[in-house]
Amino acid sequence: MGYNCVEFKYCPGCSFELGYKEIEGKLRKYCPQCDYIHWGECSIGVGGVILKEGRGLLVQRANNPGKGRWTIPGGYVEQDEKIEDAIVRELKEETGLITETVGVLAVRDRPQDLPGVKHDIYIVFLLRYVSGELKPDLTEVSQAAFCAPEECQNLNIAPLSLHLIKKAIEQTSNGNPASGLIRQEDIQMVGALSELYSI
Ligand SMILES: [Zn+2]
Repeated sequence: MGYNCVEFKYCPGCSFELGYKEIEGKLRKYCPQCDYIHWGECSIGVGGVILKEGRGLLVQRANNPGKGRWTIPGGYVEQDEKIEDAIVRELKEETGLITETVGVLAVRDRPQDLPGVKHDIYIVFLLRYVSGELKPDLTEVSQAAFCAPEECQNLNIAPLSLHLIKKAIEQTSNGNPASGLIRQEDIQMVGALSELYSI
């Protein structure tokens, strides 16, 4: 997972050399032997904002990309994993905290803008603390701390993370715990793991 992808030369299904064919208005990699069409690749990341007394949780990235940078916790979603399970898992792995999701706070879209980069979608949840003590894993993150927006200015912080913490503080300041898109119950949908988030 991650931002990067490689250009397929051979069919991932039958190993035949891929050609090109115009399909739905675009020249796409195509396998003349088994009809495989390479539609492209997407990666989905999740981030989580958790607040404590007007401060947002930040972690310092221990590895590249972005080594040394402070961001909200998060990571990539597995193919068979719900986005909310992914953010709860990442929080626990990176910070030791057990959390639950409140709602979807923001979505950042990054279509492919360079060859070899996947279309990357980043979904940010507002989280609620359940249990556990703050303990950075020291593998993915080197430090973890709750910071007020004014304290964040002195850190090497991702502007997006700072924006999201400010938004979360703004949204919850009037005592309203629910914010953004909320997971809906009892909606029948195709797919055993499907979830619907709506206003
Ligand atoms: Zn093939």
